[in-house]
Amino acid sequence: MSAKIAMKNPLVEIDGDEMTRVLWALVKEKLISPFVDLKTEYYDLGLENRDATNDEVTAESARAILRHGVGVKCATITSNAARREEYALKALYPSPNATIRAILDGTVFRKPIAAAGIGASVSSWKKPIVIGRHAYGDLYKAAEMLIPGPGKVELVYSPAEGGKERRITVADMKGAGIVQGMHNLDESIRSFSRSCFLYALSEKIPLWFATKDTISKIYDGRFKEIFEEVYKKEFKEKCERAGISYFYTLIDDAVARVIKGEGGFLWACKNYDGDVMSDMIASACGSLAMMTSVLYSPLGAVEYEAAHGTVQQHYYRWQKGEKTSTNPVALIFAWTGALAKRAELDGIPCLGSFARRLEKASLDTIEAGEMTGDLARLAVPAPARALDSWEFVEAISKRMMH
Ligand code: NAP
Ligand code: MG
Repeated sequence: MSAKIAMKNPLVEIDGDEMTRVLWALVKEKLISPFVDLKTEYYDLGLENRDATNDEVTAESARAILRHGVGVKCATITSNAARREEYALKALYPSPNATIRAILDGTVFRKPIAAAGIGASVSSWKKPIVIGRHAYGDLYKAAEMLIPGPGKVELVYSPAEGGKERRITVADMKGAGIVQGMHNLDESIRSFSRSCFLYALSEKIPLWFATKDTISKIYDGRFKEIFEEVYKKEFKEKCERAGISYFYTLIDDAVARVIKGEGGFLWACKNYDGDVMSDMIASACGSLAMMTSVLYSPLGAVEYEAAHGTVQQHYYRWQKGEKTSTNPVALIFAWTGALAKRAELDGIPCLGSFARRLEKASLDTIEAGEMTGDLARLAVPAPARALDSWEFVEAISKRMMH
C-alpha cells in the first residue's frame, strides 16, 4: 500500500460513550488509520472522565475546537438520575452538546445521507434536504399566562436606560383564555443567518429561508430583514461568485415546494419550524443512523457528529458478548466531514479525496446489499441477511483496499 496521507494541523477528536465509543475505535482502526497519519488533539468525554474532571474536559474540548477550527465528536451520555447511579457519578452534569454549543455559539445543521435502494418516503426527493435550525428564543423562551376572565392584556417595554415606557394592547379579552409573549434578539438572528450562509457556501448548495412575514409584519418581518441585510452586506458577492442562490419565501409556500421539489438545498428554519421540520425530514429518510449533524460557529469553527445517541441498548448487548448490528455510517461521515474540512483549510487535496472515497465506499457497500439491520429493514430489494457492525466495516475496508 502507498504511504499514508500526512496532515498539517490537528483535528480535535472528542470521544464519547457506550456503543458509539466502541464503533468510534473500530472506524478509526479499520477505515482511517490505515490510510491517514492521523494528527488529533484527543479529549475523552466518556462519562467516567467527565466525572473525574468535574466536567472541565467538556469546556476544554470546545475551546480546543475554537483554537483548531475543526472537531469531530462521538455521541455522549447526558447524565440523569439513572446514569448517576449506573456510573456512581459525583454530580449531574449538563448535556455536553449544550456546553459545547454555548461556547461555540453555533447553529446545528442536520443532513440525511442518501443511499440508493434506501428510499425516502417522498418519491420526488433526489437530493438531501438540510435543515438549519435557529436554536434561540421564540416559543422556547416564551412567557405564557392563563387568563381567568375578561380583562385587558398588554405588552409593556421599559427601557433599561430609562426613558419613556411603551405599551400596546394584545387583546381586550372577552372571557377566560390564554396569552403568550415571545422574543428574539437581532444579534442571535444575525449570527444564525451568518452560520446559514457559511454552511451553504461550504456545501455549495442554495439557501432557502421562510417565515410568515405577511401576517407577522414586525416579528417575522425582522427575521426577513436581518437575513436580507446580512446577505447584501456580507455574502452576496461570495454567493454569486460560487453560484449559490439565496431564496426567501413564505413558510407555507416553502413547505409546498419542499414536498414537490427534488431537494438539494439548505432550509433555514426559525426555532419552531426547525424543530418540526427536522423530525419530518429525518423520519421521511428512514434511519437515525443515516443523518449527520454539523455545528457551524459564526466564529469560524466547525464540529461534526452523528445525529444519533450512544445506542445504549445495543451497548448492553455488546457487553454480554453479542456482535450487534449497529450502523456506523453517521460516525464515518462525521470523520470524513471533519477530515475534508481540515483538508480544505490546510490545502491537502489528497486528504479531501480520501474523505470522499471513504464516503463512496460506505455507500457502495450498502448499495451492493451489504448493510446493518436498521437499513436491511428498509432496503428494496431486501438483502438476504443483515451484517453486524464488524462485518459491515470489513466490507467497506475491502473496497478501500482496492
Ligand atoms: P439513540 O442512542 O439515538 O438510540 C435510539 C434508538 O435508535 C436505538 O435504540 C436504535 O433502535 C436506533 N439507533 C440509533 N442509532 C443507531 C445506529 N447507529 N444503528 C442502529 N440503530 C440506531 O437514542 P437514546 O436511546 O434515546 O439515547 C441513548 C443515549 O444517547 C442517552 O444517554 C442520551 O443522552 C444520548 N444521546 C446523545 C446524543 C449526542 O451525543 N449527540 C444525542 C442523542 C442522545 P433499535 O433499538 O430499535 O435498534
Ligand atoms: Mg422535534
